[in-house]
Order: sequence, then structure tokens, then C-alpha cells
Amino acid sequence: METGELSTAASTPLVVAIDGPSGSGKSSVSKAVARRLGLAYLDTGAMYRAAAWWCHEQGVALDDTAAVAEAVRSMPLVMGVDPAAPGVHVAGTDIGEAIRRTEISAVVSAVATNLQVRAELGRLQRAAIDAERTDGFSRGRGIVAEGRDITTVVAPDADVRVLLTASEEARLARRALEVHGATDAASLAATRDQVVRRDADDSTVVQFHVAADGVVTVDSSALDFEQTVQAVLDVVARAGDAVPR
Ligand code: C5P
Repeated sequence: METGELSTAASTPLVVAIDGPSGSGKSSVSKAVARRLGLAYLDTGAMYRAAAWWCHEQGVALDDTAAVAEAVRSMPLVMGVDPAAPGVHVAGTDIGEAIRRTEISAVVSAVATNLQVRAELGRLQRAAIDAERTDGFSRGRGIVAEGRDITTVVAPDADVRVLLTASEEARLARRALEVHGATDAASLAATRDQVVRRDADDSTVVQFHVAADGVVTVDSSALDFEQTVQAVLDVVARAGDAVPR
């Protein structure tokens, strides 16, 4: 926790839900917002990635939807919710790095478009959010949860709901820099699958390009990281003014 005055439990928990497409900056912005506000942080994308990793480990074919769902229901997943160090463990193994590999990014949509998997992970996500309303890492202060369907399906009752977007060009450039350390033509082409194709596949089951009713859009195309964090904090502050806490 970065701010001492925020370390005591608040009387009313705050749940902030952030969704948006690949490369919009969801994860890093959500982590920073959680740290500033002294809240827990849940990376739901990491849970879908963990599911893909686990199926691979277990030798389950991703097109066998029933077997994948069964494997995910028995996955011994432990999600860390400290925004300063959000770990992902399965059966005691730290898979935080393994799930970011290109092999996982390339197949995760197959797991994420399995509706039984979505039901199971959605249940786990709601439980993680509810735990922070009363106690948990934040000691009842609340949580920032991010992922493509979090404002619409998983936590439509969140106090603050944000759709973080950016132009396709800006999202491609950010991902290329993150994954390849450059934004030249070759790096952009190599990143296109991760950003454009994956979002197109994911869009078949979740809608995350247009804000649903009550969801505030923050377009980060022309903002740097710090400005984007501030824009989201402003949305949280405005919601706090509107809703007596
Ligand atoms: O956010 P990240 O890129 O880590 O998400 C990985 C994948 O997990 C996405 O491409 C999508 O297939 C899936 N996902 C999802 N619903 C969420 C979060 C992620 O379907 N709430």
C-alpha cells in the first residue's frame, strides 16, 4: 500500500471494474489505480491464461470443450491480489511468467470462448471480488478488477465501471514495445495476431468495444500512462461525489 492514510479499512468497500481490448493498458493502469487507492487487484485475463496453461499441462485438447471445462473446474488456482506483486500459482507452481508466453497468447481464446469455462471462472472472480468487500487483502476497502467482461457480466453492480479503449494503432504500438521492445514494421506485424486476431476471436462471446449503459469510456490513445491512470482516478472520484459513501 502506498498511502499510509489509506491503510485502515473503509466503511464502504469500493469495487472498480475495468474492461477493454488488448493493448488498451488495462492491466498496468488497473494495478496503478489499485495501488493509489489501497485496493486489491484482480487480473481476470491471467485466470484464462492459467486455464490454458493448465489444460496444456494436463494434456487436454482445447477443442474438447467438456474435458477443458472439467479440467478448469479442478484447477488448483491461487490468484494473488496484491497490486504490487499479483502472483499466479497453480498447484504451488508460480506460472506468472509462463502464462505470458506467445504460445499461451496464441491459444487462450479457445479456452475463453468455452462457455462452461466462462461460467466457472466468472464464479471464482465474483468470489474474489466479494472477499474484498468484507476482508481479504484490502481488509474490506475493495478491489479493482479488470478483464473483458467484468463491467457487463461478472461485476455489473460495481461502484465504478470503466471501458478503457485506445485506437488499434496505439494498442498495436504499445504491445509491440512491450513484447518486442520496438515499434518497427516487423514488430508491429508480429504483434498483430496478439492484439487484432485475439480480440476478434474473443468478441464472439464477449462485447468489450462499446461501453454498456452506465460504463464510462476512457480513451487512452492520446494519453501517456500517468495521464491514463489520472483519468481513471477522476472517474472514480466523480462516482464518489455522485454516490454517498
Ligand atoms: O488480458 P489478457 O490479454 O491477459 O487476457 C487473455 C485472454 O483471456 C483474452 O484474450 C481473452 O481471451 C480472455 N479473457 C476473457 N475474459 C476476461 C479476461 C480475459 O475472455 N474477463
